[in-house]
Amino acid sequence: MHAGQASSMVCVGERRRISVHEEAFDHETTKEVYVRTMNISLALFLTAFFFVCHRADVARATTISFPEIDGDAVLGHTKILSSDAFEGRGTGTHGEEKTVNYIVEEFKKAGLRPGNTDGTFVQAVPLVGITANLDMTLTFEKEGQRRNLNSKDDFVAWTRRLVGSVALKNSDVVFVGYGVKAPEYDWDDYKGVDVRGKTLIMLVGDPPVPDPADPAKLDPKTFGGKAMTYYGRWTYKYEIGAQRGAAAVLIVHETEPAGYPFSVVQGNVGERFDLIRPDKSLGRVKVEGWISLEQARELFKMAGQDYDTLKSAAATRAFRPVELGLTASIRISNTIRAINSRNVVGKVEGSDPALKDEYVIYTSHWDHFGIGKEIDGGNIYHGAVDNATGIGGLIEIARAFLRPPNRPKRSILFLAVTAEEQGLLGSEYYAANPIYPLAKTLGVINMDSLNVHGKTSDVVIVGLGNSDLDDVATQVAAEQGRVVKPDPMPEKGFFYRSDHFPFALQGVPALSSRDGVDYVGKPAGYGMQIINEYISQHYHKPSDLVRPDWDMSGAVQQLQYYWMIGYRVAEADKYPQWKPGAEFKRKEAHREAVGDHRPQ
Ligand SMILES: [Zn+2]
Repeated sequence: MHAGQASSMVCVGERRRISVHEEAFDHETTKEVYVRTMNISLALFLTAFFFVCHRADVARATTISFPEIDGDAVLGHTKILSSDAFEGRGTGTHGEEKTVNYIVEEFKKAGLRPGNTDGTFVQAVPLVGITANLDMTLTFEKEGQRRNLNSKDDFVAWTRRLVGSVALKNSDVVFVGYGVKAPEYDWDDYKGVDVRGKTLIMLVGDPPVPDPADPAKLDPKTFGGKAMTYYGRWTYKYEIGAQRGAAAVLIVHETEPAGYPFSVVQGNVGERFDLIRPDKSLGRVKVEGWISLEQARELFKMAGQDYDTLKSAAATRAFRPVELGLTASIRISNTIRAINSRNVVGKVEGSDPALKDEYVIYTSHWDHFGIGKEIDGGNIYHGAVDNATGIGGLIEIARAFLRPPNRPKRSILFLAVTAEEQGLLGSEYYAANPIYPLAKTLGVINMDSLNVHGKTSDVVIVGLGNSDLDDVATQVAAEQGRVVKPDPMPEKGFFYRSDHFPFALQGVPALSSRDGVDYVGKPAGYGMQIINEYISQHYHKPSDLVRPDWDMSGAVQQLQYYWMIGYRVAEADKYPQWKPGAEFKRKEAHREAVGDHRPQ
């Protein structure tokens, strides 16, 4: 059915030509002699046409049919990768060793070529693990008054600088609202104020600007309305602080805009993994962290200010930084260790000699949390859904590309990345150190956590409308009889939370799609019920395991969809582009300015 639909589309243009010809033929019917001639020529034409169209159909039908994907094979990989023997696939652990070897062997068995130019299936990803000594105190002072905040209870702070220790001493504290500088929204929270060496207190999320047409809603034209833009992410806050030369950035934690309670921040105080950057991360602010809402309120009081009043002011363009008249001091000492991790990379070489140096990349993270804190009697974080399923899918998608005649003109890279759970580090490393130029990378398709509950009649695209990839995906979904829906939770900023994102930041169009919620043959609400059950009971817990009631038909449906999107992009005449006005278009413009021209 799907190939049939597609075939009829292939010939639409041709059909139009026939009808034009038929009109010409009708016009000639008064002249009998010509009729016969025309009949013959029409017959010849039609024969030729059907031959051409039939050939096109054959070519298309054989190449564009949805491929066979073996759901049992995906399940088999998932069972193995999530078994106790793989020890939760922790980055830098014995579990990594087993996982990387497994994927390399499976890539070889599938018939992939080594994805690295050095002839191997791996890309070394040098990481560091930084553990801050929790025995620290954050002290605020004002004219002899002093307020000590306790580590973990009141604030969580760290440094990403690769140094043994950092210290802030009597650094002036400035409230900078949301800390955003966004010329495209005519927004600047700094107003030229010099914040070098200062401690910036920022609010989490995007500035909430009311819609002039309906003040009860957020203005969809400013910071994406309800959706979160990158300006709302905590990672942006630390980056802008560094760009402006600040010494420290502390974000006030509020549960709703952050998307999680303060306990999550408090739980995130162990070893932090990071890339080893050329500047040893000395370009970052010395101190990064969060403070609790209660402590922020108290600090503002100590400064003679009211938190809520300043917060409201910060939601307007007129906001200016407010010197709180306080100073901040803290000392953080680190333990640092080196970790040699790896991305696994295999490729299908494109069939067209002129195009095989151009790539479509599938990304999927192999890592999970390894062995950790015991919950309900288990300490191995199995990560079956998250993301053994994605890796199982990656292997089987690769296999499908190698089955004749499915090899596309351009090359396909299968990138199983490390340290996603530690902050998208494996994908960030590849995007910063690409094996093949990003300028020749058409697009990235990310797979994180597959559907294991049966077929759906819908599919979600996160950040729907960002790039031409979404149009391809929408078309492919339609051929499967599915409808595309936007992310039902845009305020959670999911687009910034998996491995396609570092590529998007570099200007490469990236697709982040997720399972639908309307399950075929299941009552309304079933989809949301299983999502909520998974998130509350198993997400990032040892109990994320393969279950006997799994139905892999949904994973197969989703993998066929991912496969076809990649195939179409690899065969297309044009590179996919960001849509005008899309968030990452700016970066693309930047890349063009520095001479990095993506072919159109
Ligand atoms: Zn995860």
